[in-house]
Amino acid sequence: MKIKACFSFLISALLITMASVAFASPTAPIDIVFDIDWTTFYTAHPDKPNQGDDKVIIVEGKAYRPTDHLGEVLEKISSRPDVRISFFSGGERSRNETLLKAFKLPSGRSAYDIAYKVLSKENLTTVSEDASLGFSERYKKSMAGILPGATAERTILVDDQVNFSVKPWKAVASLGVFNFQKEFDASKANEAYFPKSKEEWRAERDKALMWQALLEEALSSSNAHKKQSFAQIAEDLWAQKSHRGLCKNIFAD
Ligand SMILES: [Mg+2]
Repeated sequence: MKIKACFSFLISALLITMASVAFASPTAPIDIVFDIDWTTFYTAHPDKPNQGDDKVIIVEGKAYRPTDHLGEVLEKISSRPDVRISFFSGGERSRNETLLKAFKLPSGRSAYDIAYKVLSKENLTTVSEDASLGFSERYKKSMAGILPGATAERTILVDDQVNFSVKPWKAVASLGVFNFQKEFDASKANEAYFPKSKEEWRAERDKALMWQALLEEALSSSNAHKKQSFAQIAEDLWAQKSHRGLCKNIFAD
């Protein structure tokens, strides 16, 4: 009787294993990791004219303005079964989580809800104790050990400071270089971190659409061409097409 029970247990275990292999995803997920400050959110100055609007979110006494189109872009990319979205910011965990919970996508779910992982200051890798070096030279955003299941070939970090990435992990620029401006203000064109032209201002406001276009192209391209990794394709596409004028499929002007 004992032998029979043991045998049927083994058969059940074997069937479960076979079923899980048969129904497992044919490929590992693609991980897209977004930075927070100056990538998905601006530090806003709502007290100053033209530097805030009704989308500003206050967290722990500071004002943040989500990048335009962020909700739609996150919704679209996160709806793909082959993609996991995460966030990685050198900011405090409480700030990161509260901000992402407060930011709602068109579906009503929050950015926190759709995230695979939210990584924070304590997840940074220290590579130098030299205080004379910049923050992104002392600390790195390595996904090793903190993004379970991720591989460097199938992971890309979108960050305004690409030097936060560390080999073999790859990063692409968030394409944002300016302060948030509700409208283009030519009187600020000569100030640091303000666009010099309406075209530059528009490109800044639409940067999330550019991420979406390039990430979707990288995803289809890596599915079609197995020889190159998704991360390498994304990096190459950014180099070739991230200039607004070259991305005609989303920008008509
Ligand atoms: Mg940043």
